Amino acid sequence: MSTPFPAATILGYPRIGRDRELKRALESFWAGRSSAAELRASAAELRAGTRARLGELGLSGAGVPLDFHYYDQMLSIVATFGAVPERFAHLLDAEGKLSLEGYFTVARGKGELAPLEMTKWFDSNYHYLVPEIGPDTPLRYVDSHVVDYLREAVAAAEQGGAGQGEAGGTSAPRPVLVGPVTFLALSKAADCAPGFDPLTRLEELVEQYAALLADLAGAGAQWVQLDEPALVADFADIDRARLVEAAASAYAKLADAASRPRIIVATPYGTARAALPALAATGVEGFALDLVRGEVPGEDDLAALAGRTVLAGVVSGRNIWRTNLEEALAKLEQVRAGVGPQANVVVSTSTSLQHVPYDVDRETQLDPELRSWLAFADQKVAEVGVLARALSEGRDAVAAEFAADAAARASRAAHPGVNRPEVRAAVAAVVPADRERESFEERDAAQRERLALPLLPTTTIGSFPQTTQIRKARAAHRKGELTDAQYEDAMRAEVASVVALQEELGIDVLVHGEPERNDMVQYFAELLDGFTATQHGWVQSYGSRCTRPSILWGDVSRPAPMTVEWAKYAQSLTDKPVKGMLTGPVTILAWCFVRDDIPLGQTADQVGLALRQEIVDLEEAGIAVIQVDEPALRELLPLEVKDQAEYLEWSVGSFKLSTSGVRPDTQIHTHLCYSEFNVVIGAIDALDADVTSIEAARSRMEILPAVGEHGYERGIGPGVYDIHSPRVPSVEEQVELLRSAAAAVNPRQLWVNPDCGLKTRGYEETKAALDNMVAAALQVRAEIESR
Ligand code: GLN
Ligand code: ZN
Repeated sequence: MSTPFPAATILGYPRIGRDRELKRALESFWAGRSSAAELRASAAELRAGTRARLGELGLSGAGVPLDFHYYDQMLSIVATFGAVPERFAHLLDAEGKLSLEGYFTVARGKGELAPLEMTKWFDSNYHYLVPEIGPDTPLRYVDSHVVDYLREAVAAAEQGGAGQGEAGGTSAPRPVLVGPVTFLALSKAADCAPGFDPLTRLEELVEQYAALLADLAGAGAQWVQLDEPALVADFADIDRARLVEAAASAYAKLADAASRPRIIVATPYGTARAALPALAATGVEGFALDLVRGEVPGEDDLAALAGRTVLAGVVSGRNIWRTNLEEALAKLEQVRAGVGPQANVVVSTSTSLQHVPYDVDRETQLDPELRSWLAFADQKVAEVGVLARALSEGRDAVAAEFAADAAARASRAAHPGVNRPEVRAAVAAVVPADRERESFEERDAAQRERLALPLLPTTTIGSFPQTTQIRKARAAHRKGELTDAQYEDAMRAEVASVVALQEELGIDVLVHGEPERNDMVQYFAELLDGFTATQHGWVQSYGSRCTRPSILWGDVSRPAPMTVEWAKYAQSLTDKPVKGMLTGPVTILAWCFVRDDIPLGQTADQVGLALRQEIVDLEEAGIAVIQVDEPALRELLPLEVKDQAEYLEWSVGSFKLSTSGVRPDTQIHTHLCYSEFNVVIGAIDALDADVTSIEAARSRMEILPAVGEHGYERGIGPGVYDIHSPRVPSVEEQVELLRSAAAAVNPRQLWVNPDCGLKTRGYEETKAALDNMVAAALQVRAEIESR
């Protein structure tokens, strides 16, 4: 007899470790300080710790997700099926399997061997590795690491034994894998086969998944979760109907497999509306629905799930706020009524919890009242348990928890920092004219006269190398070993040296170098009202990298100028213009945990108004060029096209609110860290900045002809060299890129700059690369002027 799915679960759990143990183990292995065996041992310990913790928090059996990855969930599928592009073929053994070292080489590259590209996972801040699939890329089930993890868990449960039930049965956790449709939909064509459509290999891949499922069943898996978030998104190059059809055929086949665990298809990050009927028509046993981002399905769709297991994702995996238990319970009851008594409704999270930190109880320095409003991963696991009891036994069985939730909610709503009438009034008073500047024609003329820049002006994106010396000073300041004054002196000295260097290099528009900023969002979060930082709130960004987002909990305002003194100081050292440097409202929102109690657009305007004051102050201090970075503009773009217009309206609106308080002769720059034409042209058109810098070196200025043809007439700075690598690009190489850029757009629009900020680079390569950049600009400038 098979046991039903437990009443509560989560779609996934953080894997980096409560104290970032995995980060440390990985980095020590990569640095050659520890062996593969030691890394494996640390990883096994982490998995055991996670199982124990989830058990303590009330999850059991198939309710426990098994989702450990050394680096990335997509890369783990690449490894499982040996699906590496040609350039890594030599890393595969005789069976076609990657070693652990090989796995990391695919992730991180080695020497001339470029790693897989990295990109954002849906609309989150997590980055996955993009598989490259061609007609001949291996797709064969060769790597059974998931099965090994399952065996490990089952063995541990049997050993810890008492009351765990029959071997491998109820004690088996639930392996979580990226599903075949999403895997291929997120893959790109291998270099050897430009234009190849990875989805055409779905049938082959599904066969291999079937082999993996058989293996999992043999090892005792009762259930498996296949994540198919691709089904909630619109893709520029894949028709939605085609994806749904692909999913229907893939899951019909998998459901037919002779030996397999029961299958749950998960559709996190949005609504499964489009795919649900087709999936329900297959023989899969379970569905995991995101009921935070997505709505509760309609009556017919729910009825089609009768007799199945439905993981109702009512606890958000995306934010750090405690769940509104009343609202969640109402959704659960609605689902239960819709699917009928034969179905099993399981309380779940909307997505994996990999996007939130581990445990709010560790935030002992947080104001206790604020802390009571929050739920990190562990608190969310407890919440699914509470809701499961409420659903099965009635609300009264968990009356205390519901009361505590109501109390926290009331304290939050009543907190004076959450609703500040003066901030609300300021946003309410914004009129459309506050978001508009004079015509570009007028601005352009005024700026050309004021700045008197040469053709192809050179500049940088803002940061200069963050040396160990800078980091040490910051750490010492934090520990109290440096006084505020001493720390500021050290940073001033750094600014002076960065300004001197740029003068020496002959750059036209200088920057102060951002030495005083630990992070481009956290820096502002610390200076604005309405934000708070955490001590342990790390979340995985990619591989071993983590970020510690601030929490935006209240109404936002600017108590005092934030960057003016730095900009003024830098400007006092030179006759050339110094660019003021700010992070834009959308990026600040994207890289924080944002409040969920008012619309995002309203928070964006609050931040926009605070930045507007800063920009006006910079202007008054004599700063003639001000850059407002929005690298995250694309990240928050809704996954469905139908929601994008509204997003662009408020996001672009908040940027323009921040930048439209200045005179026409003040030049506004923005910077976007990407260069896909559709996204960029929309953004640079809408943001109305005088100059926009974008990433373009790796794609060899591919986008520029389209920008030219589009009729875009403001300034553009396509990056002429890639800052992601220490390689120093030659003068000739940069000249080539500049020539092609100057042929594609009017040279009068063109700026010369690197792809992005230089903070991760060293000084030696930075000096050499910028020296070549200036030489290239001078050469192409002369060529154009002599025409
Ligand atoms: N001004 C920032 C810097 O140079 C921009 C960083 C970014 O685009 N992510 O570091
Ligand atoms: Zn950038």
